[in-house]
Amino acid sequence: MLPTRSPEQHLPRMPELLAPAGNLEKLQVAIHYGADAVYLGGRRFGLRAHAGNFSDDELRTATAMAHDRGVKVYVTVNIFAHQQDFTGLEEYLIFLRETAVDGLIIADPGILAVARRVVPELPVHLSTQANVTNPESAAFWEACGVSRINPARELSLAEIKGLRQRVAAELEIFVHGALCISYSGRCFLSLYLTGRDANRGDCAHPCRYRYRLIEEKRPGQLFPIEEDERGSYIFNAKDLCLLFRLPELIGAGADALKIEGRMKSLFYVGTVVRLYRAALDFWRQQGLHTPLPPVFAEELMKIGGRGQSENFFDHSPATTEMLYDGTTVNPHWAPAGIVREGGATPLVEARNPFQQGDSIEFLDRRLNNITCRITAIHDQQGREVARANPNSLLRLTLDHPGNYPRHGLLRQSIGGK
Ligand code: SF4
Repeated sequence: MLPTRSPEQHLPRMPELLAPAGNLEKLQVAIHYGADAVYLGGRRFGLRAHAGNFSDDELRTATAMAHDRGVKVYVTVNIFAHQQDFTGLEEYLIFLRETAVDGLIIADPGILAVARRVVPELPVHLSTQANVTNPESAAFWEACGVSRINPARELSLAEIKGLRQRVAAELEIFVHGALCISYSGRCFLSLYLTGRDANRGDCAHPCRYRYRLIEEKRPGQLFPIEEDERGSYIFNAKDLCLLFRLPELIGAGADALKIEGRMKSLFYVGTVVRLYRAALDFWRQQGLHTPLPPVFAEELMKIGGRGQSENFFDHSPATTEMLYDGTTVNPHWAPAGIVREGGATPLVEARNPFQQGDSIEFLDRRLNNITCRITAIHDQQGREVARANPNSLLRLTLDHPGNYPRHGLLRQSIGGK
């Protein structure tokens, strides 16, 4: 159980928690678990071509939904545009203004120029793709009219402080998510090997592949490249995680903390947003000098991923910041389902198989997980079933009384019954 606030304590100002929303469902989960703002892409002019992305109608719905909950919406218009990409841009920007989105995320100076001319009232946030690495660059972009800067991920804490001293623009810092071994995503490996262009949001992640060596006179004969006996994952960087460094970032004047991953799963979005929300709430209540309780590290391990790295926060990453054991770290926990209709016997959409008698964990909006046993499963016709299959909608009776809210997530220890 997390401690509660002593009323007399000083409450530090907390930065905005900014979450990825690859589709409407992820947006709802991000909001449910405490995001202050979400970023998303329309079908045009954005990176992350495979992130689902929002049609114009969905964009209107998403913005209304988020605003209802007091959550801001920023829309990516962050392609590196070629001349033909400008067709329809002005109309799209006007549509975004009429949709009342809260800001645009832009990387290309040409698109920025059009946005400042056509929709000057819409705040512009500079994408990390613009690779701001020094205070002079930050000042340049600020003079161009951006109100928020997301610098390159290759900056140390000291360099972030340097930006803060130079510009009044808001600073938005990536705190969690996948890392590229190239400069903030400027990479042609995917385009070269698979024809999918990372700079147009379509990366196939070949940096995570296993590689072998071929001697040209022996085609078909694959020689292992061994960094160790397990093989070689040449460029497989661990994931960024600055969870335990947030007080320093807050002290350095970060205005927004951004979670990477519009292409990641619903469970990733929910569990990571929940973790960072809980951490920010904890530090707001307990003060920035109080260490996080052990439950935060435990939760982080349950989320899984590729292991954690603080990247350039203190110094340049060493070889220990690469994951050589495979492409991911086994989290030992798997998604079980998502609550589609809340209540004491929630209607749950299963994401993996589970059965009567299984123990599952319900993720409440803080970090107080509720462990319960499934005592009965009923299908939508009211028939009792022994087992849930993925994507089926089922009503669960649980041995722990509670009101399980809509959009809440359930997970299960892998093999844990
Ligand atoms: S191939 Fe890897 S390093 Fe290159 S853009 Fe994709 S994820 Fe980043």
